[in-house]
Amino acid sequence: MSMTLEAYKELEAVVGERNISNKPWVLAGNRARTPEYPFEYHSPDAIILPGCTEEVQEIVRICNRHRICFVVTVSGASVDAYANRGDTVLIDLRRMNRIVEINEEDRYAVIEPGVRHVQLYPELRKKGFTYVTAAVGPGGSVLANYTSTSGDNHNQHGASRANRYLLGVEMVTPEGEILRTGSLQTGSGWFCPDGPGPGLRGLIKGFFGSHGQMGIITRAAIALNPCKGPREIRTEGHSPHQHIYLDSECSKVRVFNYKSLDDVREAMLRIGEAEIGSTVMKFFYLTLAVMMTDSANEFHKLWPRIRRELPMPLVVHLATESPEEMAYEEGILNDIVEETGGVRIAPDLENWWNEHMDFFMVVSVLQRTLRLGGGWMPIKLGADSVSHIVEVGKSISEFIYDYTDTGKIFDAPENFQIVPMEYGHFAHIELLFMYDRTDPNSGKNVAEFRKTSRYTDLKHHYHAETLGCLNETTELLGPLYCNYHLWMRALKNAFDPENLANPILKE
Ligand SMILES: Cc1cc2nc3c(=O)[nH]c(=O)nc-3n(C[C@H](O)[C@H](O)[C@H](O)COP(=O)(O)OP(=O)(O)OC[C@H]3O[C@@H](n4cnc5c(N)ncnc54)[C@H](O)[C@@H]3O)c2cc1C
Repeated sequence: MSMTLEAYKELEAVVGERNISNKPWVLAGNRARTPEYPFEYHSPDAIILPGCTEEVQEIVRICNRHRICFVVTVSGASVDAYANRGDTVLIDLRRMNRIVEINEEDRYAVIEPGVRHVQLYPELRKKGFTYVTAAVGPGGSVLANYTSTSGDNHNQHGASRANRYLLGVEMVTPEGEILRTGSLQTGSGWFCPDGPGPGLRGLIKGFFGSHGQMGIITRAAIALNPCKGPREIRTEGHSPHQHIYLDSECSKVRVFNYKSLDDVREAMLRIGEAEIGSTVMKFFYLTLAVMMTDSANEFHKLWPRIRRELPMPLVVHLATESPEEMAYEEGILNDIVEETGGVRIAPDLENWWNEHMDFFMVVSVLQRTLRLGGGWMPIKLGADSVSHIVEVGKSISEFIYDYTDTGKIFDAPENFQIVPMEYGHFAHIELLFMYDRTDPNSGKNVAEFRKTSRYTDLKHHYHAETLGCLNETTELLGPLYCNYHLWMRALKNAFDPENLANPILKE
């Protein structure tokens, strides 16, 4: 540890002895919560838990005075929520966990960073509202997802990504100034993200979020959607054997298998054109087999069947306001599926979705992907038109067999999802792969696989990976996105001249 005692004492004076630590075992426990990723992890010099915006501001000012880097963490499901070099303090925002306001008239909620999906979602659903929820699971920070990380989600076909729903924001800049954006700066409340004057939403969040490199967001307002489908949720059993039902004529899940990606594209575009459906997605088949089973042994029993019967599943959730609307949407869906060559899957497999409706709400079942105990990683994560993204999906077969056929990664070459958004005006892709973390070569193989995927995108000029913070990926792919890397660097220099806020890129 290289933080001086003087700096530590100054930080301690801000939050009190109970809310800061430099004990080696506490720091070691906050080094990484995703150790299967073959990255380099560092211990922070201290971990500090502020309780309000003013304390965050003081901490940032002290860090600036002593030239200490700072990284924010909440649930730490993201690899960028940890120290990436020495001389770093981890700012854990879990104490700032208040739902400040739920405005039912103007349909927004004001939250602090420590508010988790499991806290906000039930509160809002009771009042007839919902919001787009990342698949990170119940413990993820809502604010982190809306302001600082990606924001893609499984309901974005009938809704959108989190960036579209961000309203007023309060943040502490990397130099320790408190900034309030949108309608908030004129004292008119939280309802509007921009103006008067230049909008700062692009700078704070953009499309993907900057992982805390442009400052620390201490409160944010997010816009809410009306909740379609029933408000009552019926549950049975306990995790990991929980069943969650939405008993209603206004909620139905249908799953179809397709033989070609071109047909999937056609179905997605036509469902979007008809503006029906809450969720539409070509889902990952390997991930699905993990989600459907309660143990690794069960997974290995089911996987051959899923691979055979469901290589290209299209999952559709219809959620409507009335049974009549449901009959209308179902009729259109059936026609489109018939005309595009989809085949409804076996009832026992389709029923799994009806028994796990948490997938469409707080997405708790997706956490099971972590259960196999090996290594896993999502790549690509970009977005463009449905047709462009389907071409990206097709290009995966150009390089993946070198890795699946040789055992470098798990043999599931079609394990990618494509999720359209805003009724097919855009689509997102995620390629999720698993590997044996006990293999001494896994780090090398994973790095090589990621690189090959990126160079394939560069070769085809594909927008398959979205850029957010300043890191190696941004440097490599920036030229594909109007020199994003140069603009991001200039903004970062203006906001954070000492490069203290989560400086991921090794210069
Ligand atoms: C199984 C799994 C599934 C996931 N699925 C999705 C998904 O569907 N969609 C999606 O978008 N993401 C997904 N993620 C990625 C990521 O975990 C989420 O985006 C998540 O919402 C981030 O919340 P968190 O509490 O984990 O944040 P953390 O991991 O604690 O932080 C995330 C990043 O944001 C920064 N940060 C956090 N809070 C602030 C703040 N207040 N101010 C400034 N910077 C801040 C951190 O420094 C870090 O770089 C998934 C992750 C896992 C493990």
